[in-house]
Amino acid sequence: MFRTKGTNLLRAKTHNHSVVLEIIRLQGPVSRTAISSQTELSRQTVQNIVAELIEDGIVSLSAGEKKGRGNPGMLVQWCPGKAFSIGIQVDQFNVTAVACDLSGKQIWTDSRRLEQRSVEDANLHVLTLVEKFRHCCPDSADKVLGIGVAAPGPFGEQVSGKTEATAFSEFGCSDNIAMLSDKTGLPVTLENDATAAALGEYFYGKGKGLNSFVLLHFGLGFGAGFMLDGNLYRGVNSNAGELGHIVIEHGGRQCHCGKQGCLERYLSICALCEALQLSPRDASSIDKIEQLFKANDARVLAWIEANAIYLERVIDIVKSTLDAEMIFIGGVVSAELVDAILQSCIRQSGSVLVAKDSFDNVFTAASGPITVALGASAAVSSEILAPSLAKMLL
Ligand SMILES: [Zn+2]
Repeated sequence: MFRTKGTNLLRAKTHNHSVVLEIIRLQGPVSRTAISSQTELSRQTVQNIVAELIEDGIVSLSAGEKKGRGNPGMLVQWCPGKAFSIGIQVDQFNVTAVACDLSGKQIWTDSRRLEQRSVEDANLHVLTLVEKFRHCCPDSADKVLGIGVAAPGPFGEQVSGKTEATAFSEFGCSDNIAMLSDKTGLPVTLENDATAAALGEYFYGKGKGLNSFVLLHFGLGFGAGFMLDGNLYRGVNSNAGELGHIVIEHGGRQCHCGKQGCLERYLSICALCEALQLSPRDASSIDKIEQLFKANDARVLAWIEANAIYLERVIDIVKSTLDAEMIFIGGVVSAELVDAILQSCIRQSGSVLVAKDSFDNVFTAASGPITVALGASAAVSSEILAPSLAKMLL
């Protein structure tokens, strides 16, 4: 069994270690006094925890800037390259893996084509990629804290077995995740793809330090990840945020879920593929879409203009329901294409539901083919660090 030194190291730590580490991540370089005053941990406790973290090689001290007379205080910051996580995205086409340190700095990435859309094939590729990483980066492999896996939901026994265009529910069954953990010897955390993208934004992107935000994810389907009051909201079966199946056109297009007029029948890569007569099951379709978009293809631009307005309804629903600090939109396509959808939506808004200033806190997020895998790697960080920090400080 392959057990990492790093895994044992950090998992043995206490809740207070998580809190201190999270403050160092968000604010570092930061003084021990500042950590103490924000956490109500005594200065001595903070000193002791920081000393242990220094001994473990996770953080280091440096001299702060000299202000006036007297010695500058010492500041604490993360040590890069001491702990890593692996993020893996499984979708209908590919298994994509990335390894990065806890700040999101990538050290390795690889992907494998999924020849058969089966759980067995997906598992085989996941295990092969983890072995490839260990082979390629032997120095970092024993510092891996865990694996985050992202797959399109919905998950859970009640949906398992229904073959859907966007779902990979059997892969996400708890028995299968336990098997992957057993075979790799590492803790494995499952998230749906939109939630993984939200985690990535929280740990590595524009969501850093935010208390509440929503990430809208433009993928084969359409989903959302919620960071609420410093906690990721997943729902009972990790299925929160399946916004793609909100009915937005009564009596509209038939959806594989059984309903008519679902959002993702209009606003998703599957819908765009349909408009361009490309197969959403073909791995090369997204590349073709990007090429057409870059070439200002009239059909792609017309599709954006006709369907971007549906984004307004989603933003309206999310804003009215959650009053979040920010709303991000990202996806598996390029940031430029996601932005074109958002800008078209803003241009057309105002007449239907939402005033233009409603978009003041709506921004594009990290996008591209590796975004979800990178976000999945952050699932490991969220197990170690304390995203609910803000709540604890109240
Ligand atoms: Zn549906």
